[in-house]
Amino acid sequence: MKIEKSGYDVWGRSRTNGTKILVPPYLENAFKDMMNETGISIKVLRRNIKSVVDRSRKARRQNTRRFIGTSKNSFDFDRFLRYEEIINFIHNLVRHSKYAEIINIGNSFEGRPIIGLKIEGSKNIPKIFIDAGIHAREWAAPITALYLMKMMVDHEDTLHEKISIYVIPVVNPDGYEYSHTVDRFWRKTRSRIDGTECVGTDANRNFNSHWAEFGASPDPCSDIFPGLEAFSEPETQAIRDTILAIEPDLYLTFHSYGPMLLYPWGFTKSLPSNWQELDKLAKIAAHKLKQLNGQDYTIGSSANVLYLASGASDDWAMQVAKVPLVYTMELPDYGEGFITPIEKIKPMVRETYKAFKVFVKYVCALRHINCS
Ligand SMILES: [Zn+2]
Repeated sequence: MKIEKSGYDVWGRSRTNGTKILVPPYLENAFKDMMNETGISIKVLRRNIKSVVDRSRKARRQNTRRFIGTSKNSFDFDRFLRYEEIINFIHNLVRHSKYAEIINIGNSFEGRPIIGLKIEGSKNIPKIFIDAGIHAREWAAPITALYLMKMMVDHEDTLHEKISIYVIPVVNPDGYEYSHTVDRFWRKTRSRIDGTECVGTDANRNFNSHWAEFGASPDPCSDIFPGLEAFSEPETQAIRDTILAIEPDLYLTFHSYGPMLLYPWGFTKSLPSNWQELDKLAKIAAHKLKQLNGQDYTIGSSANVLYLASGASDDWAMQVAKVPLVYTMELPDYGEGFITPIEKIKPMVRETYKAFKVFVKYVCALRHINCS
């Protein structure tokens, strides 16, 4: 069924929870008929998603305060930030840090700088690379990356010269801004190609690892269009070049929604050679995370927990860039899909930080460094 091109919006597919689809009101009856004919059972999870979007907009307006001041603590993680605010947030952190520096890894299709933060020590210490926001509508991801940045700077005296950490909070700033201003559920980049009115590539299908083989559509109008060729997008080129230059010990990429902590592969149901290490570490991280708010995470390989999809950054990082430890973290949805309720931001980012600390401790311990 060509569900991607016909006005429906696939929000999530999972082996255990079925497929979640946003159905526009004008297609409701047609959708029901189609499901009846195919014998697929359906359950309505939420009737009026627009009301959720409206409520989230209203909350954002109420919580908007200008925090572009002098204190690094003036933003309280009580709303989602626009891209310009995120840049200001990073500049503020750097201003109040001894070791943190801004990294600019390239420009988006529309010319926005793709920036982040690093705390870098000498060459022979372990390195962690984190990114978020490759999928525009998954706002839970960038806000979590920002919180990790803030905690990095708060603890920089302990971390410095023990571990180097690099964070890019919004890989796809064009899409992110578009999801704020025009279409809340925009997923792709905003690149244009000749011969079609349809805009954007699924950047997380654009990496050169079994590119366009699974979980992608050649239709440029599809939400899972992988581009005309691998690394067609300046955003994925920037991530590729950065990972190749850093050679991290661990790569963590934030998405929503899950909650799931996934390791490669996405292109096959077979598992990487170190899957037992990946699985064990994920379980420890999820256990620590759960202690804070009781949040449960599903753990496993992408293809086994979700579905076959290739050309994603996590598979590429492990297969081509040879990063030994790679995770995709699908943050919780709290029953609202991509519209993370703003009162859930704080519990979400804090519990994620618990998992992050487990990763930090582990990569340090591999080199006999104590980073706790
Ligand atoms: Zn995603």
